[in-house]
Amino acid sequence: MKTLLKKSLLVSLAGIISVITVQVASAQTFAENALKRKAENLSGDRFTIFTATRKGARVFAYRKPKNEILTAIDRGLDDLFEAARKHGYNSRLRHSDYVIFIAKPDRMTDSDGNYIPNFAIPVAQYAGTDYDKGGFMYAAGMVIGYNPAAFMIAENEKKLEQVSEVVRFEGEHLILYHNDRRRYNETADHSRGGGHPILN
Ligand SMILES: [Zn+2]
Repeated sequence: MKTLLKKSLLVSLAGIISVITVQVASAQTFAENALKRKAENLSGDRFTIFTATRKGARVFAYRKPKNEILTAIDRGLDDLFEAARKHGYNSRLRHSDYVIFIAKPDRMTDSDGNYIPNFAIPVAQYAGTDYDKGGFMYAAGMVIGYNPAAFMIAENEKKLEQVSEVVRFEGEHLILYHNDRRRYNETADHSRGGGHPILN
């Protein structure tokens, strides 16, 4: 009888702990909710899914992301942190420092017909440049916030190495913002030339 009671107590404790864990993982901060509104306005998507990668990056998505995509995000951040360390940067080197939005692609290739999913966003400072496709432009990724560090990528289930690459590339802007503001300013605006990788 005593053992039985203990067992059921353990089971219910385990139940409580898992409920608490789920609540912590799904709690979004005030800043994250502001980012979500910004990402929704830019992309036209609704980010109803909130989850985390195995290494702790926080992820919003318009539908449940496949595990392989979450793993590819972690890998992209790993590559980014490795490059950052080589340059002596040490701020924002944890996966949990990053909030990533996975947007619905509006186009599956670049203008040359090569496979790489893109989302359409308003042109802003890229108006009138080669990026301008009539008031909007296509991007595979874009930075949307600095505190917390946040960017949006296009969903890509076919070429996961591209997911890792886009994560690493957008992350470069955020690493530079927090570690080397001068270089950030020199490289942030691609309409004035320059691309990725910035950190070799
Ligand atoms: Zn860039």
